Order: sequence, then C-alpha cells, then structure tokens
Amino acid sequence: MTARPDLGPRPRLGYTASAVDRSAERRSDAALLAQMLASDRAGVYVAGGEMVVLKNRGEVSDPLFSVSEAKAFGAVRENVFLGLVDGAPRFGFGIDPAAIEPLKLRDDLKVTDLRTIAVQALVADEHLPPLAEAKALIGWHARHRFCPNCGSPTKTVQGGWRRDCPSCHAEHFPRTDPVAIMLAISGERALLGRSPRFAPTMWSCLAGFAEPGETIEEAVRREVFEEAGITCGRVVYFASQPWPFPSSMMIGCHAEATSDKIVIDRSEIEDARWFEREELALMLARQHPQGLTTPPPVAIAHHIIRNYVEDGTNVFG
Ligand SMILES: [Zn+2]
Repeated sequence: MTARPDLGPRPRLGYTASAVDRSAERRSDAALLAQMLASDRAGVYVAGGEMVVLKNRGEVSDPLFSVSEAKAFGAVRENVFLGLVDGAPRFGFGIDPAAIEPLKLRDDLKVTDLRTIAVQALVADEHLPPLAEAKALIGWHARHRFCPNCGSPTKTVQGGWRRDCPSCHAEHFPRTDPVAIMLAISGERALLGRSPRFAPTMWSCLAGFAEPGETIEEAVRREVFEEAGITCGRVVYFASQPWPFPSSMMIGCHAEATSDKIVIDRSEIEDARWFEREELALMLARQHPQGLTTPPPVAIAHHIIRNYVEDGTNVFG
C-alpha cells in the first residue's frame, strides 16, 4: 500500500462561521431599521433569482454595495436585515431576476451564482455566510408571496424575517429544510454514491431530506437503505452546514453499516459502491489513479469523508 497523501490543514467549510450578529431584537423596530439603512456604514448584498451581483475586482470580487449603488440596479423587491458586522448594518436586496440580465454586460460587475462564488473563491471567506443568509431569505420571500392558509397576498414585516397575512392574520416564518447527509462505514471502507448530475469522476455521500415525524438518525438509516440497500446501526452527528439552494440545512453524520450487499435504487442515484479508506484519501488529495474525486471543501461531504479518512472508525467515539 502506498503512503497516504498529505491532506494539508483542514479547510474551512463553506457558508459557515458567520461574523454576522443577527441582532434579532432590532428586527421589530422599523424606525431603527430605516435609520440603519440610511447609515453610511450600511452594506448591501444583492441577489436576483439564483444570481448574485459582485463588484468586479479581478481575482477576488467585492459583494458589498452601498444602499444607493444597490438601488440603482433596479426595483428592490425584498429588503431584508441580515444583522451587524462590527456594528455596521448589513442588508440583502432581492431584485427582479430580469433586472439582473443587463448587469451581466457590465465590466465593473460580475454576476454569477452562489455555488460558483463559493467553489471558485470569488469573494473573501467572510462574505459567504451572509450571502447564504441573504440568498435563502430572499428566495423564501420570492416563493411565499401568498398566504398558504387563505391565499391572500402577505406582507413583509420584522426586517424580512416574517410575512403576515392581513386577511386571516397568520404569521409565516422563513423555512429551513433539514437534509441528512451521511457516510455509511464498514470498518476500513465506506459507501459513496453518484448522482447523474455529478461530474463523471465525482463520488459523494448519500443524502436526503428528513421527513415529517422522523429523527435525523432515522432519516440517515432510511436514506442509506432506500438508495443503496445497506442497513445501518449507530449514527453519529458530525457537523451541520447552511446550504442555500434554496434553503436547506445539511446535517452531516457517520453511520455504522450493518450489511454489505449494495442494491441501488436507480431512480435516486446512478451508482453506489464501497471505497477503501486509503482510496478515499487519494480522492480527497486529487491523486486517485483513475482521477476519481470527492466534492470540494465548500461542501460538507468533503469534511465528512476527510474525518473518516483521518480517524477511521474512531469517528464513532
Ligand atoms: Zn391568510
């Protein structure tokens, strides 16, 4: 067996470690929010549909605009208060996706999606969590203009953290959808799968939405069995990650496999197989002889796999 490649220092997990103080207690004070919006220190992240607008600054772009710069892009459909960074107010503006199109032609701007921004490190790390916060919240508003209870148009209140129905008085809060993402482990090997959406060489953890009435542990066992026919016993929580596509919470786990024979559900995944721990190390280091890879560090799957490569079955404690 070849020596394990050096994986280097542990990379940062994308969209986590936010420096934003959400200052939830300020959301109900409309006068204060207006004052903060008028402040010279206010900074705005701008999104429309899947796209985010950046100031083109060469290799590393700047996603923060002044309020007047942001308003010049088009009518602001949503204005959400993200919180404070070192006392400076941060807002997210949602503009019409159609207003984004002409911005793509401007040399002083860069317009791209949040996945690309993270994977290609187009902005400084500190901007990823507030961009995720802004995009998930703006996207929620775009999809919740009407009351699910009675169908009336709803109104944004609380700095963008609630929509109220003037007709039936229901209050609606932004949703986060829990997704269980897991590595099933059997001693010195672990189970990865492939979605047809993946690049041809990429393999990753299995994952799926937790269902109503289900614990995360139960969701992990169900997903691994449904997608790959493998049963699991112990499930151990590893870490979580906001995943703003559109508004998920990835809950990363390691699971102890208690069976061996893979039965693939082709309607869910394209393929699944066992990988030796040492083979996973080569994939993480991008040194696999067949060029197989894992997802990049922006995704929690990378970290779930790396933790197992480094600690083996000690991940179970
Ligand atoms: Zn209603």
